[in-house]
Amino acid sequence: MFNKLRYFIRSKLLPDSLFLIDRAKKSNTLYLTFDDGPVKGITTDLLNVLDEFQVKATFFIMGKCAEAHPEIIKDIHHRGHTLANHTYNHPPFHKISLDKKITEIMSTNELLKQLTLQRCTLFRAPQGRWDLKLLGALFRMKMTAVHWSRDSMDFRKESPDIITKRLVDNPLKSGDIVLFHDDDPRCIESLRTLIPHWQSQGFNFKALENKK
Ligand SMILES: [Zn+2]
Repeated sequence: MFNKLRYFIRSKLLPDSLFLIDRAKKSNTLYLTFDDGPVKGITTDLLNVLDEFQVKATFFIMGKCAEAHPEIIKDIHHRGHTLANHTYNHPPFHKISLDKKITEIMSTNELLKQLTLQRCTLFRAPQGRWDLKLLGALFRMKMTAVHWSRDSMDFRKESPDIITKRLVDNPLKSGDIVLFHDDDPRCIESLRTLIPHWQSQGFNFKALENKK
């Protein structure tokens, strides 16, 4: 209960300007983001659905998954999506030291550099657990903290229909950054309905961009 309340307060009170980039309010743009992959047998199916609807997205990957499946990381990159950093091991960030957090971020950045030959500057903390020291460290590393403005709540492992209904009943607005997870196939079925629904409302989809 306490965690739920804290989550709610954080999602309502965090200033967007700190965590969201390029809100693109006028251009009817949505940013789909996928955390916790890549996962064999799921991420590639998701990539095929995104291609089908010509949608570009952002993948906040875990370094250990990238190390296990470098071919999927290269596939994500070659299909024109953005790769972003979601730590190496997904540790509980409220329980580890700043040094350990930085090691998690740097090792994942190094891996992404090896696999894509590009610098990664986008970071999302596990479970969106931010603190001032972490934000300061990211600033010094010239990295951008990316939270989300809408949560599909797909981590609850409910049926795809429920995930779909939640996002249809609460309309998105331009510039929204939407959180999904590609460690479970449920989001794929939801997106088969949601993407054409959002496209019919005039939205287009872009990937967030790593700074050059
Ligand atoms: Zn995560």
